[in-house]
Amino acid sequence: MVKVVLEKVDKLYSKTNESKLSSPVKILDSFDLIVEEGEFLVLVGPSGCGKSTLLRLIAGLEETTSGNIWIGNRLVNLLPPKERKVAMVFQNYALYPHLSVYENIAFGLRRLSDQYNFWQSFIPKSWRANTTQEKSIDRQVNSIAQMLQIGSLLKRFPHQLSGGQKQRVALARAISRQPQVFLLDEPLSNLDAQLRGETRAQIVKLQRKLGITTIYVTHDQVEAMTMGTRIAVLRDGKLQQLDTPLNIYNRPANLFVAEFMGSPPINLVSVEIDSTLMAIHQQFNLKLPDHCTELLKPYITKKVILGIRPEHLIIDSENLGDIFATVDDIELLGPETYLFLKISEDAELIWQTRTSSRKNFSLGEKISLKFSLDQLHFFDPQTGLSILQSPL
Ligand code: ADP
Ligand code: MG
Repeated sequence: MVKVVLEKVDKLYSKTNESKLSSPVKILDSFDLIVEEGEFLVLVGPSGCGKSTLLRLIAGLEETTSGNIWIGNRLVNLLPPKERKVAMVFQNYALYPHLSVYENIAFGLRRLSDQYNFWQSFIPKSWRANTTQEKSIDRQVNSIAQMLQIGSLLKRFPHQLSGGQKQRVALARAISRQPQVFLLDEPLSNLDAQLRGETRAQIVKLQRKLGITTIYVTHDQVEAMTMGTRIAVLRDGKLQQLDTPLNIYNRPANLFVAEFMGSPPINLVSVEIDSTLMAIHQQFNLKLPDHCTELLKPYITKKVILGIRPEHLIIDSENLGDIFATVDDIELLGPETYLFLKISEDAELIWQTRTSSRKNFSLGEKISLKFSLDQLHFFDPQTGLSILQSPL
């Protein structure tokens, strides 16, 4: 097992615009990251934030503009992809269309051999001499295929496979290279929801079994929350937060992370902190809980952004809540219900609650809610940084 370390990595692309003048754009800016040995790190962020670029730099498919990349104790900046001992799996599978599933998997194993010969893959299996090497390849292909439950597909060609099957073959081929590092770039994006769920679990199990240091890129926050031992949240080529899934969700370092992780999204409202340490909004006054007061003192008479996740609102049936709201819309999702609540002309809260067989809400109904006081977030409106969490 190896560590992957990125040290002050810069990546500039020269952008050609219509007037053909090229101005370099910084995609990654002095990027530092340490991926621990055997870790499953998920890299998440919106489209275009530099996730694929980062993986391609580690794989050696792109050169860094400056900075260092270490795999284990090897500085790999100048090593070609083949020598970096990494395997990459892409969203579009990138299988060899002219090779059977068997040969696609065997390809990685043959490449490891000293007598590697590209054309070997084209010789039908039955024509090949049953050498020790062939026997060993056969054993390994079958073992990997069994691990990924594709043993019955070995004779097929990529065009005869479903999306999910293709992705499992791509994973098998990646494993067969016996990499020190796995790089997966949105590998499940082309699969339907159910298959995505199944394959997600399979990849996690496989990684645990093999213990290969893995960097998994996604823009899907469910994948990020469920798969990673840690999550790195990226925005415009800059690391926003690197932490466990639970800390990313419960202790977001800034507004971007708070809004990006969580569905339905976190509720955000602007409030003013008064001299008695109450959070004042047009529609409610909230006494700040003790654990917040010290850190919010510098904001007295100033505005801050209060955040509360939709599941952290509580109904108050005795109508003594912190806030009164009108039910504006209802989304029933089975075990859970989302209620879209108007608290003023221009302010809305989403409340996520368990669907109850006893209580049905109706449009226009007035309800009274409380804030779960230990689940409040406060952000500085200028910097976007969390006021309660220590900075990165
Ligand atoms: P992500 O994978 O997070 O969606 P990418 O790493 O693919 O983002 O791209 C990051 C940014 O770099 C995007 O703005 C993209 O347009 C730009 N980019 C990617 N590859 C190139 C390239 N070869 N030349 C110029 N710009 C590129
Ligand atoms: Mg990408």
